[in-house]
Amino acid sequence: MACANWLHSPCLSHASLPSTSPRRGTDSASFRTAKSCEGWPTFSSNYRYRRPVMTVQAQAKRGSVVKKEEEIAAATPEDMQFEAPLKIVLYPDPILRAKNKRVDTFDDNLKKLVDEMFDVMYKTDGIGLSAPQVGVNVRLMVFNPIGERGEGEEIVLVNPQVTRYSKKLAPFTEGCLSFPGINADVVRPEAVKVDAQDVTGAKFSVSLTRLPARVFQHEFDHLEARNSLFDRMTGQVVDSIRSELLALEEKYEARTGLPRPESIESRKRWKAGAGFGGS
Ligand SMILES: [Zn+2]
Repeated sequence: MACANWLHSPCLSHASLPSTSPRRGTDSASFRTAKSCEGWPTFSSNYRYRRPVMTVQAQAKRGSVVKKEEEIAAATPEDMQFEAPLKIVLYPDPILRAKNKRVDTFDDNLKKLVDEMFDVMYKTDGIGLSAPQVGVNVRLMVFNPIGERGEGEEIVLVNPQVTRYSKKLAPFTEGCLSFPGINADVVRPEAVKVDAQDVTGAKFSVSLTRLPARVFQHEFDHLEARNSLFDRMTGQVVDSIRSELLALEEKYEARTGLPRPESIESRKRWKAGAGFGGS
């Protein structure tokens, strides 16, 4: 498949890839497609065939956003604990807004966590998944743009940092495993350059474009405690999914017996295309 050529770094050939889904149909998929705008690329199977990307005017201040390692707290063994099978954390759970710590220990527990993340990602029709989405607040993501076990390339990125964003922005319809049943358009840079570590702790750099760049940025937002799906959407797009978001908030209250920790009703307006590389 074409996807095999999207990642050019030999460093990734043995790595495992983030949670987004290329398939349609079920409500549980993350990074899925539904109501894409005509002519826009989506996280659908169509994207595998490299539908041309429509670019929009770059407006954002972009560049390197590398954080110094010491600015991010290191995870403790307790932070790395998880229970299999993993469960997807749903909006508006505060876990999705918690700070994510740096992974410092590259042991069998980390490999097991990665395996379990791929497992739940494939089971829920995702193509990318971040650790906070399974209740582990550390800087780890896995993805496979094909979204099928045994196909495509599995990528694991530990402690990823974006060193460069492209000036070109593109819209794309995104879904998220933490926002089941919701798909909407998000504008992001078309390409990114990333420094990261693999599951053994080896450092590498990789340039990502097209779907891998999109999936990476979505998952990276989770690591930065942003809710990818609506933090970056225009007010107009958010309005189009407002009722679905409110329904998730109501389900959270019914499920936990707790008041919703955040609400779309109190969301500040986000300027589309802004905030890359400067926040
Ligand atoms: Zn997501």
